[in-house]
Amino acid sequence: MTTHTDSAHILQKRLEGKVVLVTGGGTGIGRAAALAYAREGAKVALAGRRSAEIEATAGEIIAAGGEALPVVADVSLEEDIRRLIAAVIARYGRLDIAFNNAGILGNFSPITQQSSADFDQVIAVNLRGVWLAIKYEIETFLAQNSAGVIINTSSWLTHGALAGSSSYSASKGAIDALIPAVALEYGRQGIRINNINPGIIETPMAHSSVADASAFAPFIEHTPVGRMGQPEDIGDVAVWLATDEARFVTGQSLLVDGGYTIAGIR
Ligand code: NAD
Repeated sequence: MTTHTDSAHILQKRLEGKVVLVTGGGTGIGRAAALAYAREGAKVALAGRRSAEIEATAGEIIAAGGEALPVVADVSLEEDIRRLIAAVIARYGRLDIAFNNAGILGNFSPITQQSSADFDQVIAVNLRGVWLAIKYEIETFLAQNSAGVIINTSSWLTHGALAGSSSYSASKGAIDALIPAVALEYGRQGIRINNINPGIIETPMAHSSVADASAFAPFIEHTPVGRMGQPEDIGDVAVWLATDEARFVTGQSLLVDGGYTIAGIR
């Protein structure tokens, strides 16, 4: 028998009522993901170092009738991660999904032109920041006695390289190596964890790495789908991984690169 509730369910947004945390949510991929999560009915907490960007993204969501909470936090600092998650719980009472997306390129130059401090900085944000976030997010899911989903932003640079990418590639490769163990540890508690490995995506980070946009031409030429990635290309996958549609996917690092890393003659 078809009831009113059944038909309402058909039209339900995929993440209605869920609480999502997006780090690096003020710009680029994080912003696009935050808007996509909100579109699916989630309440979105946005973290970033700079208040103007995360407040602007939160403002867009609220203006569209959604729920958003900007929290200034540096993901490389344990105290900030703790404070961030506490702020989410204080506001929304729970956490269901985390997109640990904040990252930096660091000093993108040949290894002899990098200092050990440059290396430490990239590792602090891209690896330690993700490790810390995962640890405290899982503690939160366990304390709630609830399922949970974690998605981290890795990179195509774990499947290839650019001159200058050594420290950055190492930081992202480490998070690809990290998540299968966590997937094993907490799968029985209903916790899934996956990485997205974007190709070259048109964001402030990508633009900061080149003198001008003409430098992207060889990447476009090499990409089977024939264009650069857009932040929404990644945001939509971040939503999918968080939905029940991806319920059997865990411990995976998923390339979303328009086919850029496929080896072979073009
Ligand atoms: P972006 O620079 O727009 O976004 C990075 C965000 O992280 C910014 O909002 C920044 O404020 C935030 N951030 C940096 N350090 C932080 C810290 N210590 N604490 C809190 N927030 C911090 O660039 P993006 O391309 O959207 O990058 C998002 C993620 O995607 C990064 O992890 C990046 O490494 C990854 N990525 C990007 C590309 C690309 O081509 N753009 C490709 C592969 C992977």
